[in-house]
Amino acid sequence: MAEENIAVTRFREYLRVNTMQPKPDYAGCAAFLKGYAEELGLEYAAYEPVAGKPVVVLTWRGSDPTLGAILLNSHTDVVPVSRARWTQDPFAATKLPNGDIVARGSQDMKCVGIGYLEAIRILKSQGVVPVRTVHSSFVPDEEIGGTDGMKAFIQTADFKALNVDFALDEGISHPDDAYKVFYSERTPWWITLTAKGSAGHGSQFIEPNATARLIRVLNKFLALRESEQRRLALGLKLDGSKYTLGDVTSVNVTMLNAGVQANVVPEVAKASVDVRVAPTVNLVEFKKLIRGWCDEEEIELTGMMPDFSGSTAADSSNKWWNVLSAVASQRSVKLEPEVFPAGTDSRFLRAIGLPALGISPIRNTPILLHDHDEFLNENTFLEGVSFYVDLIKQLVRTQ
Ligand code: ZN
Repeated sequence: MAEENIAVTRFREYLRVNTMQPKPDYAGCAAFLKGYAEELGLEYAAYEPVAGKPVVVLTWRGSDPTLGAILLNSHTDVVPVSRARWTQDPFAATKLPNGDIVARGSQDMKCVGIGYLEAIRILKSQGVVPVRTVHSSFVPDEEIGGTDGMKAFIQTADFKALNVDFALDEGISHPDDAYKVFYSERTPWWITLTAKGSAGHGSQFIEPNATARLIRVLNKFLALRESEQRRLALGLKLDGSKYTLGDVTSVNVTMLNAGVQANVVPEVAKASVDVRVAPTVNLVEFKKLIRGWCDEEEIELTGMMPDFSGSTAADSSNKWWNVLSAVASQRSVKLEPEVFPAGTDSRFLRAIGLPALGISPIRNTPILLHDHDEFLNENTFLEGVSFYVDLIKQLVRTQ
């Protein structure tokens, strides 16, 4: 049997560090990365903007300190597993005879963190000296919103000292023969609606009526939901391409609550709505529209809408995009730029004005992030390493 590629071995070792939420082994993870840094001859630093939640940065120092650095970001935590639904131990990193490595985090996103470092190992062995500095950041808590992870880290002097010009972050595997590249994200808005009215006997026409008020407003949310769903299914963009989930605004009524008994008209009716606003929507106008619906029915609306975190240009106006697309075309890989339908740490970087592109170089692979039996084939993983070799080689010398 052929000996296992060192990149695959390190990948499987990293997968065995159990960083599952809600109790990730961050200390074990930092220790693993410290040993890795020594092995590769990289500078190691661990920052704790929040105690017990280390942000580990492995640095490959560039020759020109006047140029900004490249940030290669990945998160170290993974989502929980339903153990009974897995055919393999999710933290054993078992390799099946066909090369599939089954483990939680194999797609999301330990393959990317190891991909960066193994690419640096190869570049160093080729004698490449980077002009720009490369920081590989390994951040905690992305899977629970990033508040104690990237969001806390970017507010520190330690982050500023990294002097970042451009960041790479995660994407999603592609079931077909292409890489998805994420350049923006939708803005999540979690709304709670509270309608009030008079109480009374269920046999009467009680007005004002809390549930009737709430339902009239919810019907407007549902109409928006339907029209956006239709646009996603049938609509075409100006360039003739189909919409993806990130291009439309999704709406879901996620919680409903009213009443104490079937023949009593309730005084209060409540609902929660999960809205993800597409980046093309004017948020000020959108908020005004929703508030208008609520005001008409005297419904109280709570729940902050975050500011739009911004987009990174995915066209020739962005030199980093140009590098990425040139490398992909050299390798005959098609890129599909998209808006990320949920959230990643990239939004914190974009919000402070840094260009950030999300890509996981995984193609012809089912999307199994957060799913049972998450896996990545070792050859697909190694193709990703080779992609990062080509990409990082160009990024570190881009002026
Ligand atoms: Zn992820």
